[in-house]
Amino acid sequence: MRVPFSYLDRQFADIDPYLEDIRRLVASGDFTLGDALTEFEQEFAALIGVGHAVGVGTGTDALAMALKLLGVGSGDEVITTPNTFIATVGAIVMTGATPVFVDSDAGLVIDVSQIERKVTKKTKAIVPVHYTGNMADMPAIMEIAEKHGLVVVEDACQAIMAAIDGRRAGTWGAAGAFSLHPLKNLNVWGDGGLIVTQSDELAEKARLYRNHGLRTRDEVVSFGVNCRLDTLQAMVGKRLIKQTETITRCRISNAERYDNAFSGLARFIEIPARRAGVRHVFHLYVLRVQRRDELLAYLNEKGVEAKVHYPVPLHLQEGVAQFGHKAGDFPVTEEHGRTAITLPAHQHLKEEEIDFAIASVRAFYSGN
Ligand SMILES: *Cc1c(COP(=O)(O)O)cnc(C)c1O
Repeated sequence: MRVPFSYLDRQFADIDPYLEDIRRLVASGDFTLGDALTEFEQEFAALIGVGHAVGVGTGTDALAMALKLLGVGSGDEVITTPNTFIATVGAIVMTGATPVFVDSDAGLVIDVSQIERKVTKKTKAIVPVHYTGNMADMPAIMEIAEKHGLVVVEDACQAIMAAIDGRRAGTWGAAGAFSLHPLKNLNVWGDGGLIVTQSDELAEKARLYRNHGLRTRDEVVSFGVNCRLDTLQAMVGKRLIKQTETITRCRISNAERYDNAFSGLARFIEIPARRAGVRHVFHLYVLRVQRRDELLAYLNEKGVEAKVHYPVPLHLQEGVAQFGHKAGDFPVTEEHGRTAITLPAHQHLKEEEIDFAIASVRAFYSGN
C-alpha cells in the first residue's frame, strides 16, 4: 500500500469545473484584480471572521507587506521562533528588520515564557507562528505586545480555521498572513497569499501597496509593488474555499485516529501537547519519536510517505549564519529537529491508509 504525503492528484482528479471557470476568465479578459478576486477576498474574510482580506502574491509577501505597512523596517527587531518554515524569517528580513529568535515549547509553538527577556528598545513586532496548525498562545502574546507597545503579525500560513476559544488564527494580531500554496490546507494552482485585518486603514494601505500605489489607473498615492493575487488563482480558491471547514474536520479526525492509536506507545512516541480550548487544524501531523531516522526509512520503504519538518533548524542554516547562532541556542527546536516525524494526515486519505500507517509504526517498534 502507498500512503501518499501529497494529495494533489486525488484532489484534482476532476478538473473540469476549474477549467470551465478558467474558460470564462479567458473570455472576459479580466486577468488582474477584477470581480473574481474581490469576491474571493470577501468570502475569505467572512470565513476567518475578520473585516478585510487582501489577496497578494504569496504567504511570504503577505507577512512582509503586513510588517512593512505596520511600520517595521531597517533597524527594528522582530521576535519570532526558529521552529518554522524559513519564509517567516525571510519575510522579516525582507523588511530590513532583524529577526530575534525565541525557542519553541512542547506544542512546537513559540515559548511565551521566554519572549519578554528578548524585548529591547529596538523591538518593534512579534511574529508568532501557528506552526503545524497549532495555535501560539495568543492571549499571552497580545498581553506582552500591549505592555511593550509591539505590533503583532500572525503567521497563520499553516493554520487556516485554527482557533483559541472560537477566535480564529489571524484575527488576534494587527494582521494575519495566510498562504494558498498547493500543499496548504486551502490551496490553489500555484502561489497565493492573503493579509487579513480588522483595520480599514491597513486594508486600504495593503490594497494600494500590492498594486503600485495606484488609487485609480492614473493616480499614484505612494510607492508600492506589483504583488496581487492572480485572478485565475482566486477562481480556483473560490471553488475550494467552500470545502475548508470539511477539510479541517477531516484532518482533525485523522489526527485523533493517530493520537488514539499512539497513546499506547508512549515509551517510543511523544504526542505534542494538545491544549484545551485550542483548535489545532493539523496542517502537519507531527510526533516526536525514538530512533527517528530509522523509523523514517522504515515507513518510506513500506510506502508510508512520512517526512521530517525540519531536520536542520533554521538558525543553524548556512543562509541564516549572519545572525550568529550556534548549536545549543534553541534546545527545544534542535531536539525537535532530531526527533520529529510528520505522518500524512490530509483529507484525501482513506481510513485503511491511516490504519496501515499506524500498523507500520507499531510493527517498527514491536519488532525492535
Ligand atoms: C507556507 C508558509 C509560509 C509562506 O507561504 P508561501 O505562500 O509559500 O510564500 C510562511 N510561513 C509558514 C509557517 C508557512 O508554512
